[in-house]
Amino acid sequence: MIAPAVSTIGAGLSGLALGLSLKSKGISGKIYDLAPGIPRFNYGITLHASTYRPLLGLLKMDEATFRKETAVDGARGEPVIWKDRTHLVKFERGLGFKTRCLAGCDGINSSVSRSLMHKVDADVHPFVAFSGRRRVPTDVFVKVFGQSMAENVMIVHHNGAARLEITISDMTSEYVILGYIYSRQTRSQGSTKDPLHTPLRPSPGAKLTPPALYDEIEALGNLPQPFNTIFHAESMRNDRLLHWLLRSRRPQIDHSKQLADRGAFIIGDAAHGAPLLGGEGANMAITDGIDLAEHIAKRGVDTAAGFSNSKYESWIKFVDESVQRLRDMHNPGGRRH
Ligand SMILES: Cc1cc2nc3c(=O)[nH]c(=O)nc-3n(C[C@H](O)[C@H](O)[C@H](O)COP(=O)(O)OP(=O)(O)OC[C@H]3O[C@@H](n4cnc5c(N)ncnc54)[C@H](O)[C@@H]3O)c2cc1C
Repeated sequence: MIAPAVSTIGAGLSGLALGLSLKSKGISGKIYDLAPGIPRFNYGITLHASTYRPLLGLLKMDEATFRKETAVDGARGEPVIWKDRTHLVKFERGLGFKTRCLAGCDGINSSVSRSLMHKVDADVHPFVAFSGRRRVPTDVFVKVFGQSMAENVMIVHHNGAARLEITISDMTSEYVILGYIYSRQTRSQGSTKDPLHTPLRPSPGAKLTPPALYDEIEALGNLPQPFNTIFHAESMRNDRLLHWLLRSRRPQIDHSKQLADRGAFIIGDAAHGAPLLGGEGANMAITDGIDLAEHIAKRGVDTAAGFSNSKYESWIKFVDESVQRLRDMHNPGGRRH
């Protein structure tokens, strides 16, 4: 297989923004993704206008059309092996190619990053978070949620230390899919551990809901509507709940050096990780993609160290600010989101 100028692993937000920007500059590229089609996860992401506006020209779309048409994607990985400053990329079914310019845009569990850099452990923050979704018929939505959510896609209620969030994730003429998140800081008293905080749980544990959650939801008592309808223990038992660990991963100081030695670009969640709550990973992923295309157009493909050096401070700041936002969201005396 003959490799194009830039070989991108991962067609998520960073990979697509990179591909689109490279194309607009006349630089050839190919994007590889292990997902066979466009996955649909039914979760909404908040994009800042400052993030998506630079995309409008590339997409040849006006702002109103972009806002009407946007949606969200993601997935998993296979090994990428580096050799002699040329990257040998191997796929599951034995296919592979060599490339001088490799861009790792393959998300939080990045195979590119794992194969090229030392492993960096994520920090798990002392918060409890459960995310659920519920499909409600449109007439019920209008009756129960209509007033509070007519103008807002997200509403938040604080109950003591707990933060309750409801968002509109998807909408058709027949039903509305609502996403919701119950979160709070962890509680520990002496040797008594918080039954809802299990920072060392394995990934499949995300699908297990500790019974203590339902007790805690019941103990919230009568909540104002529409929170009372969503955060109702019996109804939640029928929903698909995910136990989120709120993790972050700062790029390491020797990141640039490792990449300089290997000559690869790594951007988006593969390079830096912000917590799911308070993080703005999608915004950073798009910005990274656009900035990397700009960098390659100006400085060529053999400049991976220069790129990650130029990004290092802003990536650290981005992760730190995301973690601070997570804390602020749960600080009743501080800023609330
Ligand atoms: C529930 C939820 C809500 C969120 N809300 C927000 C929000 O409101 N605002 C915000 O800014 N961010 C939000 N985020 C974070 C945001 O979605 C991510 O930060 C962003 O998608 C990262 O983009 P990326 O391109 O780095 O990686 P991804 O979007 O994860 O894309 C990685 C791609 O690489 C592919 N891939 C993986 N491994 C391989 C491999 N070995 N070979 C080939 N392809 C591979 C995957 O299939 C995938 O398509 C949210 C995330 C979640 C889960």
